[in-house]
Amino acid sequence: MLLIRKGRVLDPASKTDAPRDILLDGERIAEIAGAGKITHANGAQTFDATGLIVAPGFIDMHAHLREPGQENSETIETGSHAAARGGFTAICCMPNTKPVNDNASITRFIVDRAKAFGHVRVWPIGAASVGSNGEAISDIAAMRDAGIVAVSDDGKPIASAKLARQIMDYCRSLDIPVIEHAEDVSLAAGAVMREGIASTRLGLAGMPAAAESVCVARDVQVAELTGAHLHIAHLSAKSSLAQVRFAKQNGLRVTCEVTPHHFTLIDEDVTYDSRYKMNPPLAAREDREALLEGLADGTVDAIATDHAPHEPAIKDVEFDKAPFGILGFETALALALEQLVHSGRIPLMRMVELFTTGPARVLGKDRKLAVGEPADVTIFSLDRAWTYNVKDSASKSRNSPFDGCSFKGGPVATIVGGKIACKH
Ligand SMILES: [Zn+2]
Repeated sequence: MLLIRKGRVLDPASKTDAPRDILLDGERIAEIAGAGKITHANGAQTFDATGLIVAPGFIDMHAHLREPGQENSETIETGSHAAARGGFTAICCMPNTKPVNDNASITRFIVDRAKAFGHVRVWPIGAASVGSNGEAISDIAAMRDAGIVAVSDDGKPIASAKLARQIMDYCRSLDIPVIEHAEDVSLAAGAVMREGIASTRLGLAGMPAAAESVCVARDVQVAELTGAHLHIAHLSAKSSLAQVRFAKQNGLRVTCEVTPHHFTLIDEDVTYDSRYKMNPPLAAREDREALLEGLADGTVDAIATDHAPHEPAIKDVEFDKAPFGILGFETALALALEQLVHSGRIPLMRMVELFTTGPARVLGKDRKLAVGEPADVTIFSLDRAWTYNVKDSASKSRNSPFDGCSFKGGPVATIVGGKIACKH
């Protein structure tokens, strides 16, 4: 048993914001009572949460764990350890491993490895098409039975409207979301950052915002045609967000996520340092402004990291040649506190929602602090000063533009299934 005493409990599901004791008994929440009221839990381990926020376990619905196939960059063990350090109790891993997670045997491999070595819960996402090659639909039903929570061809978009229609039709019948990496590959061809004054100044090839929003438009139309649940991954452009907002207003099942790097940085921050290279690229100032509005007004459903580790040997090269992607787990909460909460942009409860009930709802799951629910809890500080040193990261990779940044507030303890997975 684990007794979390006297924390400020924030639970978006029940709109609770009050001092509480929470008693965890094994895998489940056993009791919730007023602060200092649970005194009978003899023999329970005690965690003093005075001055800290106690929230439902954070979910990151977009990560790359690189196993199987690219274990020099990350493994399920190291990635999930970094996730625990970042306050996440559950993470979804994208299927672009080697081989691609496009069949039930790979899904089972990931689920088994996660059970054996995972520091947090790992929920795999299956490839939408065989090999994510955009030709034939993969065996989604078998992967669903093996444990996937969604499908995606992430790393690239679903290749055509026709294939998107087939996949959405099928996923509608299975009631799982189709997660789209929205990119018109013809508009994005050859580009390494966002097109604009910054790309011109640096002499780097840029892609316009429309490289994303053209694909979002296509998929929103196909979602309307099929009635499927479409989820737009790492949405970065104002024009994409406007379409998600329009789709929601029209009653379509369209949701989206935004990454911490897109609500923190813009194209003007890009240097020749490849740690500023990701896809979608850092966007314009007005896009960031729109994302902040979407995070505040409910258009954005979740904050997701797109944690994308790459070992130094392949990432520490010229900007043009480096692969896309940066680390995300360990800085996500601190960036959200800094950019969204301390700045006064959104209430703390809304930020917690974006890390908990928001992604849970997209995935068709519950997430709340209530008796009988899984004992997954994220405890964090609003004011503890700390500095992110990427050399101390639990990830195998070091590709973060936030190395050396100092923050106010961040994760303190991550509890998964009643056990402390990480304590700072
Ligand atoms: Zn992607």
